[in-house]
Amino acid sequence: MSELFDKSIRTLELPAVLAMLADQTNSAEARERALATSPRTAVDEVERLQGETDAAREMIGLRGSPAFSGIKPVGESLYRADRGGTLNTRELLDIAGVLRCARRVKEYWNDDGGERTAVDSLFRSLRGNRFLEEKITTSILEEDVIADNASPELADIRRHKRNAASKGRQILQKIISSSSYSKVLQEAIITQRDGRFVVPVKAEFRSSLPGLVHDISSTGATLFVEPMGVVQANNEFIELQAKEQKEIDRILADAAAQEGLRIYNASAYRSYTTQKWVYQRYVNQEGAQEADTYSARPGCSEHQTGLALDINTASLSDHFEETEEYAWLVENSWRYGFILRFPEGKEEITGYQFEPWHYRYVGPAAARVCYENGWTLEEYHARQPAPDR
Ligand SMILES: [Zn+2]
Repeated sequence: MSELFDKSIRTLELPAVLAMLADQTNSAEARERALATSPRTAVDEVERLQGETDAAREMIGLRGSPAFSGIKPVGESLYRADRGGTLNTRELLDIAGVLRCARRVKEYWNDDGGERTAVDSLFRSLRGNRFLEEKITTSILEEDVIADNASPELADIRRHKRNAASKGRQILQKIISSSSYSKVLQEAIITQRDGRFVVPVKAEFRSSLPGLVHDISSTGATLFVEPMGVVQANNEFIELQAKEQKEIDRILADAAAQEGLRIYNASAYRSYTTQKWVYQRYVNQEGAQEADTYSARPGCSEHQTGLALDINTASLSDHFEETEEYAWLVENSWRYGFILRFPEGKEEITGYQFEPWHYRYVGPAAARVCYENGWTLEEYHARQPAPDR
């Protein structure tokens, strides 16, 4: 281009504008392309591009931005694969990530009521491949989700935990298969409440099976009872589960540290008394209506279960969502059984404002499902079959 053109670009501070644009991108390639953007001079091309921008802006205004997170550079891996090269698990997972992203972004567009827009061709050029995507993630899961051999302690804890679980199940198995209890039970199944093994008992027979009642069905017809004989095994199981979580916390922090990141526990287990104090402090500051959007009433906090963890901070003003630690957690916490519990854009579902620091342990299997589908715990639960009718 001419010298005058170059000078105009500098006077208009285009590089500074492009740097701002680059900051909005999700991948190194997109960043490069953003920085390389140059002004056009042909009127029809300018009109076409501005039409695309308008259409994209309108779409975002109506439906929020499509999620491009999880995009990794896979061009080089694909080039090697094309020539018969072998890819490692990391490369395959990155490819699955790109496929998942393409599928989700296309789904975002398909939601449209059929009205044509100037960016349709961009969406149309996306190709997901659900078969390959699932093949990759299910085959690699075992290697990728934190394995027993991540630490000898973890393997040991899990062995004991399996023993405690099978001890509990054996006792319950005897109960559900015994003819003397067949009319007492709503159904001959073993299920879990608060992480403890229980059986569904018909309310009118509650005195026939002595034990602790952990839950009542919505109709009131079924009680979820932990028979006395299984309490000890359940206690052992719960204790080992807590140990397992602690050990996984440690491994998680180690893994982040290896990538030069620092994550630590800012707040984990809280007693009823502590939660009462925390909540009351917010109420005093901003009133109950506001406090309810970010702090749980005593008795209702996930922190009281011992399964929730605030990482590095618990304050919006720290902007944890802008840190590398946050980015790492979003992509990796599920491998360790944790999910971001109150994500951005899901406030209506969770009832809480975005908390980039609050993670909840749900176990690797559920965490993976939530991660892959972009679900909150509520959305996950809503899709589980109910044991009670
Ligand atoms: Zn929290």
